[in-house]
Amino acid sequence: MGRLFKNYDNKITQAYKPGTHNGIDLVGKGNNNVSCLDYITAHSDGTVVETVKNYTTTDKTGSSYGNYVKIQHSNGYYTLYAHMKHGSVTVSVGDKVTQGQAIGYMGNTGHSFGAHLHFEVRNESNTKIDPTPYIDANLPGISGTINSTSASSDKESVRTYTVQKGDTLWGIAEKYLGNGSRYTEIKQLNGLTSDTINIGQVLKLYSNADIQSSGSNTASGSTAAMKNIPSYVKNGLNYALVFDPAYYMNKYNDLKQAFGNDAAKLFNHFLTYGMKESRQAISTFNVTVYKSTYEDLRKAFGNDMPSYYKHYIQYGHKENRKTT
Ligand SMILES: [Zn+2]
Repeated sequence: MGRLFKNYDNKITQAYKPGTHNGIDLVGKGNNNVSCLDYITAHSDGTVVETVKNYTTTDKTGSSYGNYVKIQHSNGYYTLYAHMKHGSVTVSVGDKVTQGQAIGYMGNTGHSFGAHLHFEVRNESNTKIDPTPYIDANLPGISGTINSTSASSDKESVRTYTVQKGDTLWGIAEKYLGNGSRYTEIKQLNGLTSDTINIGQVLKLYSNADIQSSGSNTASGSTAAMKNIPSYVKNGLNYALVFDPAYYMNKYNDLKQAFGNDAAKLFNHFLTYGMKESRQAISTFNVTVYKSTYEDLRKAFGNDMPSYYKHYIQYGHKENRKTT
């Protein structure tokens, strides 16, 4: 899921252009890149400072946000979510919201051409700034949670923490490494020569070796450093027979770009889209070969691709069927 939607990834439909388009337009990204409507979720924890809920029209001119929500965050920044569907806004001024909480539904109210989310980020002076870097990342100086789902961490093979006001190296070590005296490890990992840290600074918390040793608890056979390793057993089926996150990531550049080495996100993509798209996610199972080899399966499943993967997990691998 994207950070701004409940069920779908974020898909940009119109970029930020200072002066003419002071926000970014997004829709949900469904299978085959189809645009989807979805619930809009709060980007970060904060307090609702403005809402309009009863706007009923779509306007050809003007600059109306239609139904919208504006939230103030702990670093003084604001996020704004515009053009929501009439009657869908679920929060009011003064409400505390948490990251990921649904606040309304995508709509076409105000000056809008087709349902979408118009998303703005404003600094502490209420000046609109480029929201693009923050779509899937924390605002400057805001964290309190490990950035395990941020886009920036996809570029790294370690988990990171963004320093916020009042943080000390000791405090961060105590909270995330379980022992304040381990702040020396954070210093070493980040090449710090003093104990001074700055708000907004991104610190690595674990080395590659840490991630690898804690992540080797699955049957995936993966040798790359993956993070957020989930259980591959779903509804009694062990998808480790058809899914290896490192293979999947390395085979498809679009997935590598989107999810990096986040095994949970890769697995979720595989379950939601990858099987339908006949993607290969492990060297030992190619669904196209499996389908073309067995007429009994084609009669049973037709073009329902996920069924071939599931058949292999349940029966095919025990029957030693041909898979590559
Ligand atoms: Zn817009």
